[in-house]
Amino acid sequence: MKRIIKGGRVVSSHGVRIADIRIEDGIIKEVGEISQQFFTEDCQVTDASGMLIFPGFIDVHTHFDLHVAGTVTADDFYTGTKAAILGGTTTIVDFATQYPGETLMEGLSNWHKKADGKCSCDYGFHMSITDWNPETSREIETMMEEGVSTFKLYMTYDTQVDDKTIYQILKRLDEEGGMAGVHCENSGLIEALQEEAVSQGRMGVASHPATRPAGAEAEAISRLLRLAEAADAPVMVVHLTCEEGLKEIRRARKRGQVVYAETCPQYLLMDDSLYELPGFEGARYVIAPPLRKVRDQEVLWEALASGEIQTVSTDHCSFTLEQKRLGERDFRKIPGGMPGVETRGVLMYSEGVAAGRIRPEDMCRLLSENPARLYGMYPEKGVIRPGSQADLVILNPEAETVIREADQIQNVDYAPFEGRKVKGVIRQVYLRGELAAENGRVVKELAGKYVHRKVPSVPVPVPAGDMQEKQ
Ligand code: MN
Repeated sequence: MKRIIKGGRVVSSHGVRIADIRIEDGIIKEVGEISQQFFTEDCQVTDASGMLIFPGFIDVHTHFDLHVAGTVTADDFYTGTKAAILGGTTTIVDFATQYPGETLMEGLSNWHKKADGKCSCDYGFHMSITDWNPETSREIETMMEEGVSTFKLYMTYDTQVDDKTIYQILKRLDEEGGMAGVHCENSGLIEALQEEAVSQGRMGVASHPATRPAGAEAEAISRLLRLAEAADAPVMVVHLTCEEGLKEIRRARKRGQVVYAETCPQYLLMDDSLYELPGFEGARYVIAPPLRKVRDQEVLWEALASGEIQTVSTDHCSFTLEQKRLGERDFRKIPGGMPGVETRGVLMYSEGVAAGRIRPEDMCRLLSENPARLYGMYPEKGVIRPGSQADLVILNPEAETVIREADQIQNVDYAPFEGRKVKGVIRQVYLRGELAAENGRVVKELAGKYVHRKVPSVPVPVPAGDMQEKQ
């Protein structure tokens, strides 16, 4: 299959340049001015004049088909990856989980059963470690061979690991070149605050943010980073939400540590006033960590522009409004999570690039190149250059649309950003050279392949920490 995409504005982490892209058998062969000899009869030519072309977006934080909070997420791998590809995400990395008593291999094969044959974008797995023992430790090497080079640790929830375990895991992962992403919240403090709320009869949605304060996140980040310092290992803070947390990351970087950070569109674009909506309406925004203050949003946007935050993922973990009602009488039972995989690209373009907060090249770094580098998929993915896979998003920067639940294909009956006008519409999405989505429709389903991820070996620079500390 031969294809030429002509005259688009091709985005890289260095900038934007007008170029043609020549593709053969799913691989990018040439980026630049393509010689006439290649415009043969069997070559499909697409005019992309005036369009921006990004490397396919990568979402390294999704939860599809996850059994949690007494229910199962509304999106499975079929609906979730279909929504992903429609939104320009050509690769997701989901969280396989080792439940207590299982081996890592059992956890991984359970997730292959959920995903294999059902994905419309490429997919990989992190492994969530919940039961650490000598056998688990030995299995880290096996995971690497299985293409699982990154891991997830929780400092809260019933999947949590304690400080001793975190230290041991970080050290062991570092030996194999792996890396952990960590959900940072102080579990004991949250539990105590929840007990107080319950004893005072405060059972509504407003108790969700009140019992998970920014300080609980910052404390856990600080503790994690001291454990990582002792283990002399790099680490990723997932879904960073607040200024207090960022300050802890700056301190660790100032000590010379390699610390990466991720945030999500909801933390950039929504604030905790949504928990005060009448009735049970605020439940649709119940996520952990919770939405924060407007001030935190501003700080996070600045950190995206300055390079202090490396990736923007979704933490897509969707529940229907009916499922959210499980917590109607008790905020602790509201399934935590919201959808996001379908809208991340246009939201980040509209609110980030079109709004002037970040440049197209920043967006390319945050959604494509850095995730590919940090999670062992570069340069096969995350960049538009000869030899790379032709995962491409063609975006019309002038077109506008409105986000509506009625138009979405993710399996949820509400849209967190309902009614939001966005500038920038995705025209085409290519997965390894094949047209997968066009003009708001998925045109090729189930073409996703498992991504055997390598040990991440292409570092992403992090700022030193000093400069920011003085501000
Ligand atoms: Mn998550």
